[in-house]
Amino acid sequence: MTKPRVAFFSFTSCEGCQLVVLTIEEQLLDLLDLIDIVTFREAISEKSEEYDIAFVEGSITRESEIERLKTIRDTASIVIALGACATIGGVNCMKNQYEMKSVQKIVYGEMADNFDTIPARPIEEVVKVDYHIHGCPIDREEFVEVTKSLLLGKKPRIPDYPVCVECQMRENVCLFEKGMVCMGPVTRAGCKAICPTYNDGCTGCRGLIDDPNLSSHKNLLNEHGLSVEEAISQYMLFGENSKDKFK
Ligand code: SF4
Ligand code: SF4
Ligand code: SF4
Repeated sequence: MTKPRVAFFSFTSCEGCQLVVLTIEEQLLDLLDLIDIVTFREAISEKSEEYDIAFVEGSITRESEIERLKTIRDTASIVIALGACATIGGVNCMKNQYEMKSVQKIVYGEMADNFDTIPARPIEEVVKVDYHIHGCPIDREEFVEVTKSLLLGKKPRIPDYPVCVECQMRENVCLFEKGMVCMGPVTRAGCKAICPTYNDGCTGCRGLIDDPNLSSHKNLLNEHGLSVEEAISQYMLFGENSKDKFK
């Protein structure tokens, strides 16, 4: 049986999500029995222009990235956005709060005109995306589960319920009770509520659930005397469009 050819690509990102893939160790060896990895810059020097499944990491922040992404879409049967930069824009979106000219100047100084930059955006704003693996970085177990589902021809199960569900399953004391801001009520689960479990508010790296009750979240913050503005600024860490959604 021919194994599906899998390629990993990176756009503007820290490449931490690809690194997570490399740390799945024994399960990666199992997956290698089922797939052929033909392009993966962090792991192999070979490259191929032919592949069936493309995992795409990073957001689009330069004009030149648009054509490259479209070529990947035209080649692959399945495109999967890998990590927050690709799924929701991620930390790169912080620059969108400023004029692009001033961003270029701050980062590149006198060389600014030599470097192209456009507002950061998730890959889905440029091409059709078939599946999303959320998080900054991604969860390794979720990566394995999604990949196995694809190989079995099944639709991967991506959680569409809030982080609060996983947090309560872990019997954590809610951070609201401790006077802390948390975005768990509107953020997509799948990370096993790792931040609240370690006493840190969720900052929404997995993006909003499909139908978030933002007004109820706002009311919850108000009831606990917490700042809605702070919540919005936390959400803007991973995607600058959140401010409008909270209006
Ligand atoms: S989602 Fe986070 S870990 Fe992954 S590439 Fe982007 S910044 Fe790095
Ligand atoms: S700590 Fe955050 S994620 Fe956990 S239950 Fe409270 S609001 Fe939800
Ligand atoms: S708790 Fe929130 S910020 Fe932390 S990993 Fe999960 S989704 Fe991301």
